[in-house]
Amino acid sequence: HLSRRLQAVAELVPRAAILADIGSDHAYLPAYLLQQQVIQAAIAGEVRPGPLANAQREITKLELQSVMQARLGDGLAVIEPDDQVDVIVIAGMGGELITDILTDGQAKLANHPVLVLQPNVDENTVRLWLMQHQYQITAEQLVEDSGHFYEMMRAEFTPEPVTLSTMEINFGPYLLAVKSSTFQQKWHSRLQKSQAILRQLEASQSHPQAKITAMRQKVTAIQEVLNDNR
Ligand code: SAM
Repeated sequence: HLSRRLQAVAELVPRAAILADIGSDHAYLPAYLLQQQVIQAAIAGEVRPGPLANAQREITKLELQSVMQARLGDGLAVIEPDDQVDVIVIAGMGGELITDILTDGQAKLANHPVLVLQPNVDENTVRLWLMQHQYQITAEQLVEDSGHFYEMMRAEFTPEPVTLSTMEINFGPYLLAVKSSTFQQKWHSRLQKSQAILRQLEASQSHPQAKITAMRQKVTAIQEVLNDNR
């Protein structure tokens, strides 16, 4: 069975998908989705031979050879037009790496696959990229798993321009609308950390004013979100 993090990612994957899991490592996510008959077929992409071997081992162990292939390659380069991939998952890496992979692989997005993304950090970078590339977030989740908070989102291409407010980019449009107890825990913890950093910045006097101002704005934004009990 999957970790809570990967379970929450799995729940965002549309049924009957032909899925590419980029940076798949053990291929746990596509293997689970195939076993549960949620998806039709999968490609597990890996840039490193070690993790690729992990994926291959899982495919063999579960006898999924007819419905899943593991392929070595950088980012979306493993996807071929004939695959007819309609959902791309990128999970368990930083938001900057996720957006780099999407930008480098833009030619592979011509048929507008659904994107299911789970950045470990820098979620705002991912949301900004989605907005700038006409991908609308259609579902979002936040879970706590082994002491970490993880955000995951599904995004779909739209012919209309997408607009998100700064607050929505930073906190997530659906997460912000719901403000679950996990959301409040995450941002309470972030608030305390940001306040501690701000105090250090203010005390040391060797930091540029712009940095202090930015941290103050961050603290204020979190406070607003937590105090505003709609
Ligand atoms: N996706 C799985 C998950 O969420 O549990 C595994 C995450 S693992 C921490 C990140 C994986 O991404 C590593 O196995 C790494 O080799 C792979 N990776 C990093 N950059 C990549 C790239 N440009 N293309 C394909 N895979 C990449």
